[in-house]
Amino acid sequence: MPTNSTKTRRSAHRRRVPRDPVSNAWVERREGGLCVLQAARLAKIRWLVHGFSTRPGGVSDLGGEKVLNLGFAEWDTKESVFENRRRFLAALAADDMALCGLSQIHSDVVHVFEAPPAGPCRGDASITNRPGVLLAVQTADCVPILLVDPKNRAIAAVHAGWRGTLQRIISKAIGKMQMEFATKPASVLAAIGPSIGGCCYEVGTDVASEFRSQFSKASEWFDELRTGDEPNPLQWLNMAPPGHQPSPKSVLLDLGKANRAQLLEAGLLAPNISVSHLCTACRSDLLFSYRKDSGTTGRLMSVIGLRA
Ligand SMILES: [Zn+2]
Repeated sequence: MPTNSTKTRRSAHRRRVPRDPVSNAWVERREGGLCVLQAARLAKIRWLVHGFSTRPGGVSDLGGEKVLNLGFAEWDTKESVFENRRRFLAALAADDMALCGLSQIHSDVVHVFEAPPAGPCRGDASITNRPGVLLAVQTADCVPILLVDPKNRAIAAVHAGWRGTLQRIISKAIGKMQMEFATKPASVLAAIGPSIGGCCYEVGTDVASEFRSQFSKASEWFDELRTGDEPNPLQWLNMAPPGHQPSPKSVLLDLGKANRAQLLEAGLLAPNISVSHLCTACRSDLLFSYRKDSGTTGRLMSVIGLRA
């Protein structure tokens, strides 16, 4: 989840994001009362399992609503989470695979899994080429990214909030795949799952400044809050603001765009990157949003694995 240095923008989202949950590049898999989102390019690969979970259809009780919460939380029981996970894996026909999650810490740590880890494993990305290992990341606003190298049959699951994005976690996961599996970025397929969108993700200008110091294209990933009072939109991003014009205190960040840019920079081809345009905050009916739900919410899970 994104960290707390920022606030939620709560108004005027819906008209900027289509209600249609999937574009042509995405498919909805409905199975056992669940709806799992899949990137069409990845769904065509027969030896691959992958999916991005959604909110409806589980046994967890969140304020009277039955939801598919896949992460342990104070408000939920372990039994419910295990049952939800069982249903999610069943919907993907991945019941026989070993789920390999991470203790996510907003880092740039990438693990290579040859088998499920014996205990909790701190980090934010994992890679493998072992069939039967189901890599997983959990999110509720942050960006889940799944990668597959079809030539070498290697995969990755990545969790990227603003801190991970700033630390180039996705580039580092690809670098690790190159080292471990001789992956060529030009042949990698990527699916960037639903996350909080540039419509809703308000961050402090200190965050924008950090991105500017790290990425030459950072200003393309930010937008100003349109209250109507800004005399010179984005001027503060491109030059030192004149003394009589105070900088805004916060701006909007498009994390999906920032991660897509990093994928392109790493050598992936644009047609090989599928980006979900669903915003977790705009679509809190379908997804979980830590910000929209003020912290008390479930966790989505994104998984990828090689079938045995
Ligand atoms: Zn939104």
